[in-house]
Amino acid sequence: MEVRTRTYEELLQKIKESDKDYDLANIERAYKVAEKQHQNQVRKSGEPYIIHPVSVAYLLVEMGMDSQSVIAGLLHDVVEDTDMTLDDVRKSFGDDIALLIDGLTKIAQIPFSSREELQAENIRKMLMAMAEDIRVIIIKFADRMHNLSTLEFMTPQKQRDKAHECLEVYAPIAHRLGIRAVKEYMEDISLQYMDPIAYNEILSNLEAISTSRAAFIEKTKVEIKTRLNPMMPDVYIEGRVKSINGIYRKMFIQGKSFDQIYDLFALRVIVDSITDCYNVLGIIHDMYTPIPNRFKDYISTPKPNMYQSLHTTVIGKEGIPFEVQIRTWEMHHTAEYGIAAHWKYKLGLQESGKDDSLEQRLTWIRHMLDNQENSGDITELISSIKTDLIPEEVFVFTPKGDVIVLPQGSNVIDFAYAIHSAVGNRMIGAKVDKKIVPLDYKVKTGEIIEIITTKDATHGPNRDWLSLVRTSEARNKIRSWFKKEKREENILEGRSELEKEFKRNGIVMSDQLMQYMIDSIGKRHSATTEDDFFAAIGYGGIQIWKILPRIKEEYQKIAKPVVEITAEEALSAQPVPQTRKKTAGGVLIDGMDNCLIKFSRCCNPLPGDDIIGFITRGFGVSVHKKSCTNVPKDMSVCPEPERWVNAHWEGQVKEEFKSTLHIVAQDRAGLLADVTMQMANMHLFIHDLNSRGIKNSDNAVISATISIDGLEHLRTVIERLSKIKGVISIDRS
Ligand code: MN
Repeated sequence: MEVRTRTYEELLQKIKESDKDYDLANIERAYKVAEKQHQNQVRKSGEPYIIHPVSVAYLLVEMGMDSQSVIAGLLHDVVEDTDMTLDDVRKSFGDDIALLIDGLTKIAQIPFSSREELQAENIRKMLMAMAEDIRVIIIKFADRMHNLSTLEFMTPQKQRDKAHECLEVYAPIAHRLGIRAVKEYMEDISLQYMDPIAYNEILSNLEAISTSRAAFIEKTKVEIKTRLNPMMPDVYIEGRVKSINGIYRKMFIQGKSFDQIYDLFALRVIVDSITDCYNVLGIIHDMYTPIPNRFKDYISTPKPNMYQSLHTTVIGKEGIPFEVQIRTWEMHHTAEYGIAAHWKYKLGLQESGKDDSLEQRLTWIRHMLDNQENSGDITELISSIKTDLIPEEVFVFTPKGDVIVLPQGSNVIDFAYAIHSAVGNRMIGAKVDKKIVPLDYKVKTGEIIEIITTKDATHGPNRDWLSLVRTSEARNKIRSWFKKEKREENILEGRSELEKEFKRNGIVMSDQLMQYMIDSIGKRHSATTEDDFFAAIGYGGIQIWKILPRIKEEYQKIAKPVVEITAEEALSAQPVPQTRKKTAGGVLIDGMDNCLIKFSRCCNPLPGDDIIGFITRGFGVSVHKKSCTNVPKDMSVCPEPERWVNAHWEGQVKEEFKSTLHIVAQDRAGLLADVTMQMANMHLFIHDLNSRGIKNSDNAVISATISIDGLEHLRTVIERLSKIKGVISIDRS
């Protein structure tokens, strides 16, 4: 997206080029009003002010927004910056436009760079304005983008403030709404002002290799196009350079060197149908060697912002790795313009014919508002915005195969609370891919997680969890449990926590100080007595580290510290680390209670298979199918028979397992598509997929690694797949 200052003529031209019917008469009228209202104002660049609203309106047309948005874009600053009132706007342009302008004016009023609380308050207002009419935020994005493009005329301090605000608030929201073009533009320009040295370093790195890489990408593009064209004459392929901010994050946050970034250059293949997406994937894997574990199927499992594509990284002919993204035109449009691509306005009008993807995006906004109300503390919202909006998410699975999306760095407790607060509250342990893990285990994409719960309904979370969890959802749920269930305990806990902290800081508690704390801090948490105040600390509603600086300040005023703390006392105030127990996995081994289980790679046993265990040296028991070639046929003649032990499946456990199927079939156009569509119909999760021809024959082999529930499920899958036209045999490895 090219963002720069536009003239009214350029705006009209853009409207003409678009395929939408715009209400030209009213757009013209809005332009005239805005021009007259802003007539004596100039931008910092010295240009007349009207170029700003015109440029904003231009961006809105480019994003495919409707007439009302374009009109509101033209009028967006009149109420704030001129003598025109909201009523005037309502009279001339109607309720809808007035509502949009009102939302925009409200958002604009408090600067984000002010105190943390004001910032949070403002974000809350913005979320509410968004929830009322999502177009408000999209117009705001356009406003911000044009302002960013003219930042050079601002003072350095202003430049950094604006850039910071975009990175912290607007870009994450754009990402969450799936508007890639806006997110990447904001991030790159902001970075230029926030960290100019790194920005320029990346630019020069890119320039240094650009000629050689451009040639490589061009050559590869032609190779792929030549191969695809007979089947898909309309295929569109483009080369793409990773965004500068994307490179920045990998280099300076993940600590990778410039050469270690695999997806620096990527090819994007855009086709007409989902079937073709999988066809292209098979062909790419046939042409180049795929790098294991780099394949991601965001078509069957879209990202929470509705992004869909297939991603794979392969090694090119020269040994250079590159990423390929495969998607349909519709997915492409959604990825670029997100919610703006198919929005409907106003939630209230959506009773019938709901747009599901829009609904899902808006659910997130409501969720944020709900959480904020529950916690009662407005600064919570700031951390929610920052943690819940981190771009990277992980996808994990329940044993039944439901996908749970969590922010990167979440652990099994976050997972439990994401399912239901009752699951979290009764959690006593967790298994990841059948193995018991500690509660602070960070979950990774693709893992199957089973939460072990107790039947005891009075069981609750541990206070230590508050510092372990990553999501504000889990934290809020844990807090509300403590708040409800354990008042007495909360008071004791809160009092001792506060005493410890006071001791460490050499503060002596006095009635005067207590009264100050209740008056200045307690009120917001509806704590009006000492006990209320301690209880609020106990359940975590009031966080000591947050209030301590203010208390210290007040304490200095009231009295000088009279107690010196000794090193021993300071040490005794340290929290004691907890220890955890381990138990066995989903397979029972005769004669052993607690042992580490792993499934052998050679035969991938599934529940229902006849199995046997082998005691390894130091890695627990590895489980094989009895029929595996690595299991001695005759134990009496094998070298160490005592190491082979009886093993069987624990009753009724339903888990998912990875299984690789090799499907041999007569090669034909659409074969791979039929296979993948059939798999999609059965809701199978595909981990890996490739197809290749068999030399000197008309047959092809499709190898697919999929998730399987057990032997019975596998039989059904094989039965359904073998009915596909041309399939000769299906083997499992
Ligand atoms: Mn503006």
